[in-house]
Amino acid sequence: MKSSVPVTTSRVAGFTSTATVLRAAAVGTINDLKLWLVRVAVGHLLALLLVVVGAGYVLQADDSPVVPKAASRTIEYAPAPFETARDREYFVSHRAVVPFGRATLEVPILMYHYIRVPPSPRTDIVGYNLSVSPQVFNAQMDWLAAHGYHPITFNDIRRYWERVAPLPSKPVIITLDDGYLDLYTTAFPILLSHAFTAVAYIVSGFVGEKGYVTAGEVLQLDRYGIEIAAHTVNHADLASSPAPWLTYQLVASRRWLEQLVGHPVIDMAYPSGKYNQQVVLGVGRAGYYSATTEQYGIFHSQADRYVWTRVRVAGGEPLNLFISNLGTSMPTVTITSITAQPPDRVAMLLPN
Ligand SMILES: [Zn+2]
Repeated sequence: MKSSVPVTTSRVAGFTSTATVLRAAAVGTINDLKLWLVRVAVGHLLALLLVVVGAGYVLQADDSPVVPKAASRTIEYAPAPFETARDREYFVSHRAVVPFGRATLEVPILMYHYIRVPPSPRTDIVGYNLSVSPQVFNAQMDWLAAHGYHPITFNDIRRYWERVAPLPSKPVIITLDDGYLDLYTTAFPILLSHAFTAVAYIVSGFVGEKGYVTAGEVLQLDRYGIEIAAHTVNHADLASSPAPWLTYQLVASRRWLEQLVGHPVIDMAYPSGKYNQQVVLGVGRAGYYSATTEQYGIFHSQADRYVWTRVRVAGGEPLNLFISNLGTSMPTVTITSITAQPPDRVAMLLPN
């Protein structure tokens, strides 16, 4: 007997997986062997052997408790019930991934600022353009989820180029600039409900100020798996900064965030997208791995990692423009893995 039972297909923060349970072929029945006296004897011997092996298996079987149900949108495994102790179960998972070897990645880096009810465009056109309403943000996240997009962070990009892990199909990076209060109160719950990760560009000197996230909230975002990235000390215009001021803005903000989260912070975004050649050199000297601009584009290589382009999501933007700005997606291959245990749900839920 061989059955292949597709269990569920779930999207888990970066990966689409299907899980299948295979069952080992059963041993032939004894009834078939009764025609021949000799075979009857052999059959009985086999049956005895099975009882002994079965008892042995039961005695050494792991009684470990059922894995507790994780957060929403995890994979549910429903293996068929054990019929006899001699059946063994294997978990087969399939993932569509972007294979190693690409020098240029096609990844839209979405740029958001406020996730809030927009102010009137008549009185505050800048605020209006920077504000995506919670309903619209939620609808955009729904659309990404429904169309197979997988939010990742810059850590995943590094891991791809270091050949540590391939990228999931249709990767997208959701960036939220400035660390406004609604990053924690509004954007974060919507990201959570989709099991999505994101990148938060935090202005270190504004943390804890009125209208901005607190240090504790930044830490919570980090612990969940949102990548905390830098955005200078006080949103300085780096392109017009003298060298010492430039160095201070780049180094002090990074150090402050690193002390808070307890691990390296090596990605940053230019405030208001302003940079020049001196700024790019300073970002490299300050130890950053990447810096993003506000220019449009979805193609990124290691060589241009200090001027990675982004896709602005403007306030009042219709969904069809949001969709067309995502561009095309990279070809994928399907990789299959077979394990005796279900794939690690926690590892899949929280991309590194
Ligand atoms: Zn900014």
